[in-house]
This record gives sequence, C-alpha cells and structure tokens, in this order.
Amino acid sequence: MGILDWISQSAKKLKDVESQIGEETKDVYEVYQRNVVLEREIAQRTEELRLANQTLLTLEQVWDMMNSSRPLSSVLETIVSSLYGEFGYIYSFIAQKEYDEQGPCYSLKTYLENDFALSMANLTDNSVFDFKLHPSQDGTIENSIKEKEICYYVSLKSFIEENIPKADEQKVEKFVENSEVKTIIIFPITVQNQFSGFLSVFSPRKELKDDELSFLNLFARQIELAITIANLFETVKKQAVTDHLTNLFNRRFFEDALHREATRSLRTKQPFCLIGLDLDHLKRINDTYGHSMGDKAIATIANVINKTSRSVDVPSRYGGEEFFIILPNINAQGGVAAAERLRVAIEQSEVEGLPEGITASLGVASFIEQTTNIDELFEMCDKAMYSSKQKGRNQVTLADTDNVTSWQDIAIDAFVDILTQHRIPFNKNLASELIEKLQIKQQDSSGTSTQEMLFSIVDSISKSYFPLYPDGSTKNKVALATLIAKRLNLSKSEVDKLKIAMLLYDIGNTMMPKDIMKKAAPLNNDEKQEIQKHPIVAAQEILKPIGSVSNIIPIIEQHHENWDGTGYPNNKKGDEIPITSQIILIVDSYFAMISYRPYRKAYTIDEAIEEIKTNVNKKYSPELVDAFIYAIDEFKKI
Ligand code: GH3
Ligand code: MG
Repeated sequence: MGILDWISQSAKKLKDVESQIGEETKDVYEVYQRNVVLEREIAQRTEELRLANQTLLTLEQVWDMMNSSRPLSSVLETIVSSLYGEFGYIYSFIAQKEYDEQGPCYSLKTYLENDFALSMANLTDNSVFDFKLHPSQDGTIENSIKEKEICYYVSLKSFIEENIPKADEQKVEKFVENSEVKTIIIFPITVQNQFSGFLSVFSPRKELKDDELSFLNLFARQIELAITIANLFETVKKQAVTDHLTNLFNRRFFEDALHREATRSLRTKQPFCLIGLDLDHLKRINDTYGHSMGDKAIATIANVINKTSRSVDVPSRYGGEEFFIILPNINAQGGVAAAERLRVAIEQSEVEGLPEGITASLGVASFIEQTTNIDELFEMCDKAMYSSKQKGRNQVTLADTDNVTSWQDIAIDAFVDILTQHRIPFNKNLASELIEKLQIKQQDSSGTSTQEMLFSIVDSISKSYFPLYPDGSTKNKVALATLIAKRLNLSKSEVDKLKIAMLLYDIGNTMMPKDIMKKAAPLNNDEKQEIQKHPIVAAQEILKPIGSVSNIIPIIEQHHENWDGTGYPNNKKGDEIPITSQIILIVDSYFAMISYRPYRKAYTIDEAIEEIKTNVNKKYSPELVDAFIYAIDEFKKI
C-alpha cells in the first residue's frame, strides 16, 4: 500500500472513530440532560412532599389546639405564625370588620409584631395594635368578602393605595422599595353573624401555584372552624352559668361563687356581703295580669340588679323570683346602703304594660362580721329577707346575729348522739371516722360547708346498710325537698325541720336485718312488713332519746303515709299527714325510681315524673304533685 492509500485509509478510520465518538458524545449528552430533568423533577416532588407534610403537621397542630380548649386568640396566632415562619411568606394577618368614625374598616385581629408589621403601621403613624385598614368600597377586599372568593394584589403598592388611604407617600415609597413582597392574597373569612374579615398572606413570589392556593385555602377554612368552635364554646359556657330569662348568673354558679368568696375572705380577712331579694306580690301580678307579665317583672328586676351591680359583684337568680347578690369587700354598713339603693331603683322602675309599680323585700348579711359559716350567712340573709316581708315589704333588713338557730347544729348534735350512743349496730371504725368529721363544725378553709359535710355523713351511713346508695343523693334530695317546700310557701322553721328530717328519715334502716336490706330481688310480703317498721324504729328507738329532734319525730313517723290513706304505719290520710312528711314521701319515691335496682333498670326522669302523676290523689295530693313538677324543673337548673 502506497503512502497515499495509507493516509486516505487512516483519514477514513479517523472519520469513523470521530463519528463514533460523536455518536457517543451525543448519547452521553442526552443521558446527562435526562438526568438534569429528572433531578429537577425529584427536587420539585421533594419540595411538594415537604410542603404537604408541613401542611399536614401544621393542620394537625391547629386541630389539636382547637380540641384542647386553648383560647381562640392563641389558635389563630399559631395559624398566622406558621404561615409566616415555615412556609416562607413575608407576612400574614387576620383582619376583622369593624366600624370607626370613618365608616367600615378592618382591624388586625391576629398579627405578628415583626419589622414588616411595624413599618406598615407606621405608614399612618399608628402602632400595630391600633392599625386599621380602610378599604375602598368597591375594592378587592370588599369584593373578596362579598363574593366569598380569593383575590390578589399584584403589588404591595396597589394594596396600600386601596386600603391605607391616609398613608404618607414618602414612607410608602420607601416601604415598597425595601420590601420583597410580590403578591398579596386575600382569603375571605365569614362565620355566620359572628365574624366577617379575611386572612391575608404576603408572598415573595409572583406566581401562585394551584397547590399553594389550595393549601392556603385549607388554612382559611381552619380559621373559620376555629372561630365557629370558639363561639359555640362561649355560648355553651355562658348558658351553663347564666339564667336564660334574666341573663343573671344561675343558682349553681352563685353557690360556687359563694364558696370561692368565703375562702378568699377568710384568707384575706376582708368581709363580703350577701344581699337577698324577693319580688313582692308576684303571685298577684301573675293572677291579675298573666304569667308573661310576671316574667316581665322578673326581667325588670334583673335589669335593675345588673345596672346597679359593680363588675366584681355576683348577681344571680336563685330561683323563681328570688335573687342573691354577692358583694366582695363590702361590710354590713355598705351592704345595707347598696341594698337600699337597689330597693329604691326597683320602686322607681316601670314594667312595660304593667299599670302598677313593683317592689321587693331585701335582706343583708355580712361574712366575717356576722358569721364565718356560709350556710349560716345564707340562712341569716334569708331570714332577714323574710323579716322585711313581715314588716310590710319594700324594705331592707340587716340580718340579726342573735337569733341564728342553725338547723345544721341540731342535725350535727343528732348524728353525734346516734353514732356515740351505740343504739344502732354500726361499724366502729366508720363511726369514729364520721364523728371526727362532725366535730369539725366550723367551715374549713377549703370552703366545704357544714351542710356538705352533713350530706356526706348521711351518704356514708346510707351506704353502710344499702351499698347501692348513690353518692351525692342526700344533697340532691334535700335540694329538691327544699324547692318543693318553698313552692308550697312553708315557713322557714318548717323548711328547717324538713331539712333535718330529710337527713334522718331512713336512719331506722340501720336496724333492719342486713339480708333484707342487701337483697337483690324484690322483697316478699314478710320482708316488706319488716321493712315497713323502719319509720317507727327510727322515731322511737333512735331519735326519741335525742331531745333536740323531738319535733322531727312525727314527720319521720309519717313519711310513708299516703294521701288516700293506703300508706303505713297508721293509715293516716289527707291533711292529717304533715306536709313535710308528704314532701319526704314524694322526694324519696322519685329518687328511688331514678336509681338502679338489681331487679329493674332505673327510670328516666320523664318516666319517674309520669309515674308520680299517675299517683295524684292516691299517694300524693294534687298540690304536692304540682309543686313537685315545678321544683323538678328548677332542680334541673341547679
Ligand atoms: P311575697 O310578697 O310574699 O313574696 O308574695 P309573692 O306572691 O311574690 O310570693 P309567693 O312566694 O307567695 O309566690 C311566688 C310566686 O312567684 C309563685 C310563682 O307562681 C311565681 N313565680 C315563680 N317563678 C316565676 C317565674 O319565673 N315567672 C313568673 N311569672 N312567676 C313566677
Ligand atoms: Mg315574692
């Protein structure tokens, strides 16, 4: 082969190699390019995943908070700060519609106090705290809320122009220049009749992806949910402590507040006053002008009480037309002055549509100065109120400290006697434990009252012979019996006797054969006859030796007599049976019915009421059943 051939052959080979290399380079390049695309895709997916994960975690955190009864402001703050911090937005806030002297505006409900916020507020020389947006009526924000649609501002400048009309131009220029905000997204937030406003998010990015929008939208819905839940919670909380007719605190709240105030007062040695108030002649108003006029009179009084109360006072509706007001840090003299002001304000008030005026009778008692026992305070106040009635109504009476015979003291003496004299077969350890409790007569600093202590003693004694006796029953029984007695207009001394009798009426059961008391099946006739002795046993064997309860004995002896004469032990009937015994019978039957027995299930409240109604004119008088139905209604509110 000549040199020329060799050269040309070599050149050809070189070309082949070159073209081969070219092909391979092309392949490598393609692979490289594909890898770059893939990597980018992976990065994008990873970012999406991270975002989704973050969204999920934040939503989960928000959800947990909503379930943990944290205050609404704290839930909203977390939502706003997570948008700001973790999702790369520059700023975010929730605004709520309001009205100021310039018309409708939006105040910042939840916001972060960072530099951005401070500079924005500074555009109008305001602080973040009182900074308000004044959007133009047909502007983006108003439209967004009206149409319930997400809207955008494509620059910070347009946002400011439309919503901060009084901004200082120079400051705006500087603010816009220094900020990286490219888009402002507005999410309308509306919760029926409760909240109208928006969530705004300041983004450093021009474009908004669908994913991002839908996740921001999720946040806006979370905000709506948080506000709805908080409103519901508030309503329920308010309903649980207030009375619906008068909007005053209810009896339950009042009783708790009285305990709290007593504990505080004993600790700080500061007195407080209790004012009791009862509307005069409400029955006559009801009878002459109708029940709804009576309701109006009650609402008017409540209104006067509310207006004359200080913010620290606890004005409450205790029952039908009976009110109590706790006045912290006020002594007896101040209490009487406050009560007198209230009396005059009521006398001067008008009930719409009622041609005559209304008046009320008031009683005042002072804690620490007159007593350090809340039951006694309550009794004294009640008694003073009653005395105002007796002296001719429409007046104020300060409690009389000389004349406090407390029913609790009589009951305590009776139980100490019963437990120490061994007339009943009673577990010695339990007896000495109960005696010890009874001897701490004074109310202790935890606010547990003598009354509560007595109730728990009776619960323990009852449980000792009847293990199914439900805890807390005694308290409920006494409360219901007292409500019935008040409805039937029993005098205070009768109500006191009833309360003592309510604690003692079943004490005869401690002497009954244990196997009968603990029997799981209904009793046979012999067993019934045995058990029917318990009123007499209680009266004759256990209570007769205790002088202080002699006037209670007839009440207990007759608490199983029926209105129609079919009861036991003496077949008494009608008005021969003391009204207090009749009340014990109906209360005892009611609580027995709503309790579980091994041989039957517990009645529902409605079933028990129905059963009681079927016994009108048999076991109970019609007046008693009426009073019972009224009292049950009141009792449910306790
Ligand atoms: P007094 O001056 O002695 O207090 O006479 P009174 O008629 O106001 O009192 P009494 O205790 O004899 O009767 C109270 C009446 O109040 C009986 C009851 O029907 C009525 N009452 C209780 N709660 C309400 C209520 O919520 N609305 C109305 N309209 N009446 C009520
Ligand atoms: Mg009255």
